[in-house]
Amino acid sequence: MEKLKVLFASSEVVPFAKTGGLADVAGSLPIALEELGLDVRVIMPKYASVKVAGKEATMGTGVKVYFIEHDDYFNRKELYGDKFGDYQDNLDRFVFFCKEALERCKKENFRPDIIQCNDWQTALIPVYLNTFYKYDPFFAKTKVLFTIHNMAYQGLFDKEQFPKMGLDWSLFTINYFEFYGKVNLMKAGLIYSDAISTVSPTYANEILTKEFGCGLEGVLKTRQDVLSGILNGIDYGVWNPAVDKKIFKKYSVENIEDKYLNKEMLQKESNFKIDRDIPTIGIISRLADQKGLDLLAKIIDDLLNMKVQFILLGTGDNKYHVLFEKMAKRHPKNTSINLKFDAVLAQKIYAGCDIFLMPSRYEPCGLGQMISFKYGTVPVVRQTGGLKDSVEEFDLKTRKGSGFTFETYKPEYFFNAVKKALQVYNHKEAWEALVKKIMKLDFSWKASAADYVKLYDNILKK
Ligand code: ADP
Repeated sequence: MEKLKVLFASSEVVPFAKTGGLADVAGSLPIALEELGLDVRVIMPKYASVKVAGKEATMGTGVKVYFIEHDDYFNRKELYGDKFGDYQDNLDRFVFFCKEALERCKKENFRPDIIQCNDWQTALIPVYLNTFYKYDPFFAKTKVLFTIHNMAYQGLFDKEQFPKMGLDWSLFTINYFEFYGKVNLMKAGLIYSDAISTVSPTYANEILTKEFGCGLEGVLKTRQDVLSGILNGIDYGVWNPAVDKKIFKKYSVENIEDKYLNKEMLQKESNFKIDRDIPTIGIISRLADQKGLDLLAKIIDDLLNMKVQFILLGTGDNKYHVLFEKMAKRHPKNTSINLKFDAVLAQKIYAGCDIFLMPSRYEPCGLGQMISFKYGTVPVVRQTGGLKDSVEEFDLKTRKGSGFTFETYKPEYFFNAVKKALQVYNHKEAWEALVKKIMKLDFSWKASAADYVKLYDNILKK
């Protein structure tokens, strides 16, 4: 039987370029699909961070990655913008990418059964397939799955930019691109795709509501029959303390003692007091409103007056940079604030902390909680989106559960959840059992990749 052919289009892919979780997904799901017997090719822009000569590379067990080259558009350090904001020519850049992605299929003679598009940067692919390429026999059988990684980033542009897409003005209506007078790429992508998915079952329900739909809940409701949610997995070839070369010392459930060597080294590097009994609390996050940092800001002084150490790694909105810098000055002894993107430090934090915070306002899936499970670092999360689908409240009596959770988006609820974690931390034996238990949880791609194959099959049956 011929292999199912999938083109996976993403604006960022680990290990070539990353700003967030999408890159992790794009760098691991295709490999898991290939292992299930599919023929998967990945396509992405060739940014300055892509240190590969030529037009393609391979990933994992031989998944081909095609790069779209255009020095003016993509040979830049950042992916979507710099400190002055989004790049002014983002629409030109991703119009070019989407057109070239389809042309590249032809050049490679790769006729995809499914094109899996991810987020607004790829949303013009289904639009072009249904317009410019509508009668092109090469794509006659190609179907599109559009995967939403975050509803909040929709690709909005001024109306004046509409002609850049080369489409007829008749598509600038409320039924296609028009969104409160602007051009909305994600909206058109949702309308033109054969099916829509998002990265957790809970988020798939949430985005149908006003609170989480970011204005597109109405459009999504009209497509509810083809909308589903599949929880992301993570790649245990990378996110695994037993093989991780970036941490101070490798460890696993069998030699959990070595996790505490990592803790001591992290304490040392952070200029903290070296003491295994002091709980270390970490956060690694884009510094954006989505991530619940306003809640953190409200509890942080009370938290840091307790016997804890706090380490933050993140970059993003300037207001949070200012806020955390000030906080570090108020609590110099037990905080370490690292306002940058640093993949090595990230892994050291996952390994060296006891507790990991994700108080997100919303979270399509979230990878941090899954990574911290594997590293034996107990997550404290808000029950939303993928956090709700992956973290279960721990109960000291029954020993059920995998972390600490809260639902109401208020600082006191968050603080209570952190305090619950700290209480259990003081029950040494219960804590260690919890740490060992979460390290054994399986959030690999195995189950989720199989769910994608089922979804592709369903799309092709229609
Ligand atoms: P999002 O995609 O919304 O940013 P996710 O939890 O899905 O959130 O994925 C975030 C990923 O990016 C995780 O792998 C996390 O470890 C990583 N990450 C976030 N900020 C940083 C940073 N400043 N340095 C290194 N890694 C980071």
